[in-house]
Amino acid sequence: MNENTYDLGIIGGGPAGYTAALHAKASGLSVVMFEKDKVGGVCLNRGCIPTKAILHSAEVYEDLKCSSDIGINCEGLSVDFAKVVERKERTVEKLRKSLELTLKNAGVVTVIARAEVAGENKIKANGELYECSKIIVATGSSPRALKGIEFDNEFVLSSDDVLNLTSLPKSIAIIGSGAIGIEWARIFSAFDVEVTIIEAAEHLLPLADTEVSKRVERIFKSKKIKMYLSNGVQKIEDKKVYLSSGDIIEPECVLLAVGRKPDIDKKTDNVTYLGDVYGSVQLAHFAIKQAISEISGVEFDKNLVPSVVYGCPEIAWIGKREQDLEEGTYKKANILISALGKSHCDNCSDGFIKILSRDNKIIGAHIVSKEASSLIQEITIAMQNNIAIEDLKKVCFAHPTYSEGIFDCLFKL
Ligand SMILES: Cc1cc2nc3c(=O)[nH]c(=O)nc-3n(C[C@H](O)[C@H](O)[C@H](O)COP(=O)(O)OP(=O)(O)OC[C@H]3O[C@@H](n4cnc5c(N)ncnc54)[C@H](O)[C@@H]3O)c2cc1C
Repeated sequence: MNENTYDLGIIGGGPAGYTAALHAKASGLSVVMFEKDKVGGVCLNRGCIPTKAILHSAEVYEDLKCSSDIGINCEGLSVDFAKVVERKERTVEKLRKSLELTLKNAGVVTVIARAEVAGENKIKANGELYECSKIIVATGSSPRALKGIEFDNEFVLSSDDVLNLTSLPKSIAIIGSGAIGIEWARIFSAFDVEVTIIEAAEHLLPLADTEVSKRVERIFKSKKIKMYLSNGVQKIEDKKVYLSSGDIIEPECVLLAVGRKPDIDKKTDNVTYLGDVYGSVQLAHFAIKQAISEISGVEFDKNLVPSVVYGCPEIAWIGKREQDLEEGTYKKANILISALGKSHCDNCSDGFIKILSRDNKIIGAHIVSKEASSLIQEITIAMQNNIAIEDLKKVCFAHPTYSEGIFDCLFKL
């Protein structure tokens, strides 16, 4: 057998690629994985992990600013942003090294090179041909610009560029209020940067339930984040942002966060596409589940993918949104987070839990709360397993927790 012959060849070493590689190896296949940049993909190097590492610093700073309220006096509080960035880099590096080792120990052959499909069962990289019985392409996605508004990596920044800032701007305009825009708005605002968000839709977070969007708008207003909703950007010229409303904004820089485009020219037959390049849900856990489903055959309901937006309070949802349901066809339970004892202990009582049901089953949940990222998992498990509300009521929920809010909702459905 030629030494360049494998059962599985994978192009792209992000969550989709490395998950497929590890699961295939565990099931006894020989695997080669090609990565043109750094193992871990966008998620580990330019996405989920670095943003959450910076967000953690921002949250600690924000908490400390009002810590005297809870009996902790901090004097001379200040931000050393260079250190914030340095820690982010260390966190990413530590996790990348660990992933590289996991891949190595599992016996995945990792080739650091740009690769391409070069015919049926063939991959070309470094001028060599690799014969692979099966090929997976998991090349991910890149930031998308707007027509007439390109990234210049200085004034108009992408989500990649913003991670490379070594000092904080005085002000920033964020175009787009999806998860990336909202998380960066929270980070910059916590670090006392003047933030303006521009959103073409009527509300922030256009993919969320409208009640969630409105609550986030209220929270942002209280943090003095300026919002221009139902507003397009007509042009950016001489460091000025011209809005469709006629307003002109002059921030120190702009973050353009209006979505991502799959990194693929054209799809080829007999190749499996996974993760962001597949072109539907662009989330790391979707990529991971898709890879596991492809390799190990573990079933996966593509309609039950939770969405989470990080920051304080977290935002999470799954299933149907209320605005998409016909009146009278569903039931609704709503509780305020301030009704939960734990939220007052934590000094974090803003938000709500809303659960929608039909025929005694949960069909959607929308949460704005500390720990929403974990709460949504409880609902996801119930929905995935079609558990009746009557049966969920039998579950013993610990006290004091935010989960009690879910428990309380069950009795209102
Ligand atoms: C700022 C930001 C924050 C995010 N936060 C979250 C979050 O909190 N939660 C979440 O679930 N998702 C988040 N995401 C989305 C998440 O990062 C992606 O959904 C996920 O990385 C997709 O995984 P993937 O394997 O499909 O692709 P990627 O992670 O993009 O990996 C693709 C890899 O393929 C490599 N590659 C491309 N072309 C080639 C080639 N020709 N040859 C060899 N290698 C190639 C690339 O270098 C890359 O490493 C975030 C994204 C961004 C930008």
